[in-house]
Amino acid sequence: MTTIAFGVLGLIVGSFINVLVLRRGARLLSGRSVCMSCGKKIRWFDLIPVISWLALRGRCRACGSRISIQYPAVELSMGAAFALVGGAPLAPHSTVFGLFISAILIAITVYDLRHTIIPDAWVWSFNALALISIFLIEGSLTAFSSQTAFSVLAGPLTALPLFTLWLVSKGRWMGLGDAKLALGIGWLLGPMDGIYALLFAFVIGAIVSVFILLPLPSIAQYLKKRGIANSGATKSYTMKSEVPFGPFLIAACLFQWISLMYGISIPFLWQ
Ligand SMILES: [Zn+2]
Repeated sequence: MTTIAFGVLGLIVGSFINVLVLRRGARLLSGRSVCMSCGKKIRWFDLIPVISWLALRGRCRACGSRISIQYPAVELSMGAAFALVGGAPLAPHSTVFGLFISAILIAITVYDLRHTIIPDAWVWSFNALALISIFLIEGSLTAFSSQTAFSVLAGPLTALPLFTLWLVSKGRWMGLGDAKLALGIGWLLGPMDGIYALLFAFVIGAIVSVFILLPLPSIAQYLKKRGIANSGATKSYTMKSEVPFGPFLIAACLFQWISLMYGISIPFLWQ
């Protein structure tokens, strides 16, 4: 029951995130939603997460132009993440933290996919929450144990490989935003799981890149047509600049993190 309630909350948060990302975070949620093509106001019954998009078969009611699959996809991902985090056996304050963290991580993913950049304010918000979570779980700052120190070191430790890649390649293989993101992932997961998440991200990234780069240019075109990938991308993707690494990092992190919540591996921070 609570899982369903959290899932519905996630759907609603997801539709806010859609608006936030489309407006590039500028005019925060002010004003009514309008169609991107014809500028007509969208009625409330056409703004119901997922259901409205399906009912309209992904087209605007007024002008019939295509509405990006991004909308229902983000709403569904957020709904699933909220249901999983909300339903996990956590202390109430950890649940609240977990919901905020998953919302920020999914928002960063969508932003990175659309604009191939990660907003600093968002990634530092995530990093701050991840760092605070160490102290929330392990006690007050005055009881600064060696274990806490190790957890705090996990951030820089996880970020170091990506930061090195960024430095060596002068930003061609890896963005600085990805290194910043890895800082928070290290704090969230701890040193061991942070590094695992990093390796896992490279594996997912490699598999997806092979699909996008080599035999099937049609996938890239499909993504572009559906408005999922950066519209600035030309015929096909090139490895470093146009396939953002952030989404792979976050996918790996969320997978690892939510598994830890359910005790699939002994959680270090969230037990
Ligand atoms: Zn329209």
